[in-house]
Amino acid sequence: MQGVIGVYSRRNVALKALYTLYGVQHRGQESAGITLAGDRSLRTIKGRGLVSKVFDERYMKTADSDKYVAVGCASGESSEGELAPLFLSSGKYRISLTLDGYIPNRGSRTNEEAFGACMVAKLRSNGVKTALAETMKELENAYYSLVVAVHDVETNRSSLMAARDPRGVRPLYLAEGQGELFVTSESAPIDVLENMGEIIGKRRDFKPGSMITMDEEGLTERQVLEPRPAHCAFEWVYFGRPDSVIEGRSVHEVRKNLGHALVETHGLRKLYATEKGPRKDMVVIPVPDSGRSVCTGVAEALGQPADEGVIKNAYLGRTYIIDDPAFRKIASDLKHNIIRETVGGKKVIITDDSIVRGTVSESVAKNLRIAGATEVEFLVSYAPIFHPCFSDPADKPLAAAPYEGLSLEEIGDRVAEGLPSIDKVRYNSPENVVASIGLPRSSICTMCISGVNPFEEE
Ligand code: 5GP
Ligand code: MG
Repeated sequence: MQGVIGVYSRRNVALKALYTLYGVQHRGQESAGITLAGDRSLRTIKGRGLVSKVFDERYMKTADSDKYVAVGCASGESSEGELAPLFLSSGKYRISLTLDGYIPNRGSRTNEEAFGACMVAKLRSNGVKTALAETMKELENAYYSLVVAVHDVETNRSSLMAARDPRGVRPLYLAEGQGELFVTSESAPIDVLENMGEIIGKRRDFKPGSMITMDEEGLTERQVLEPRPAHCAFEWVYFGRPDSVIEGRSVHEVRKNLGHALVETHGLRKLYATEKGPRKDMVVIPVPDSGRSVCTGVAEALGQPADEGVIKNAYLGRTYIIDDPAFRKIASDLKHNIIRETVGGKKVIITDDSIVRGTVSESVAKNLRIAGATEVEFLVSYAPIFHPCFSDPADKPLAAAPYEGLSLEEIGDRVAEGLPSIDKVRYNSPENVVASIGLPRSSICTMCISGVNPFEEE
């Protein structure tokens, strides 16, 4: 997973690229990079770590005044392959590209290398626009939100290109204004630019199956492949920023809908709401930060105020990607402390976006009990996860996988049996997930809960 950005601007492109990149940092914290291109050259700075670590004062110094194209990424990849953006040279073109996606190709170390190899092959007999379109056509079973900086050494001009696979698995967003163009994984960084005084004319989602080119002649767009959307449901549930709007649907609103749906589906109002208003013997709290918006929805629907009971130590960073289960458990314990005053002596209704292996939920519940919680009920905004994603076949022991086929209630009960500190687990149904997103079922990928692979349907 990664955040990608592309900027075309004659006014301070380097700074705008950096500001935009900060806005997609949540999509990857392992490495970051920006390529700047202009009338003389194409230059990349990249390194391991957060955007703030990789881009220090050296970066602004390299941003010569001739530069007007930028592409960049904040990546969750820490593979042995080269860091992104990836540099390629073919004929008169110097190219730098990066993508958020998955290119199934065992022969390449990274997704960028796989996409780039295909594109370089097409460049032998085509111009760069045709080469990109032909690459899109060839990579039918791939998905990508792609940004490309192209420098032509014959004309000494640079251009920005971007493309999104026909299924639009990962988000990509586009904003135009005053001869400038911004392409970003999500919409939130565009809001930030506007807040800082940038004038953005038009903004919208990047059309699945399309590519764009921005150069001194302006923006051209081409629908290369027929869109057949299969947007990843988990973007709204977990990956996306709450302040982003993806395919016209506010991430925060979707998460609140998921909270309402949980209360509705499990009849929680009847179980927990009282005539006399909020109960004093029960608290509704989120696992921060991923359980926050759903908690607001649950609290609204229950008529019980949401409180804070778990505090996240943000300096631990991503603990999900740690392979060793024992170490991941320690990391979760280090990351989540409890406010004893909130939960002591009370039944705790706690929300999170998902249970994958159950590490975070069990560790948080255990700590809630140490803090004096009398009961722990876990509300999960996503549905039970039974299948690994086609792009992450790593074999994680999925807590719900053995119970596929049982009723929603039974699955929750069986998962709770395996998590000793949790009394009850309540999941959303797959139907609720789709309804809460509010887009047609046929345009959402829920492979991890339904087993239906959008690449195998046709
Ligand atoms: P578990 O601890 O059950 O294996 O994973 C669930 C927890 O990890 C939840 O708190 C959820 O927010 C988070 N999570 C779920 N999927 C992902 C992912 O793909 N990446 C990261 N970094 N966290 C995730
Ligand atoms: Mg989480």
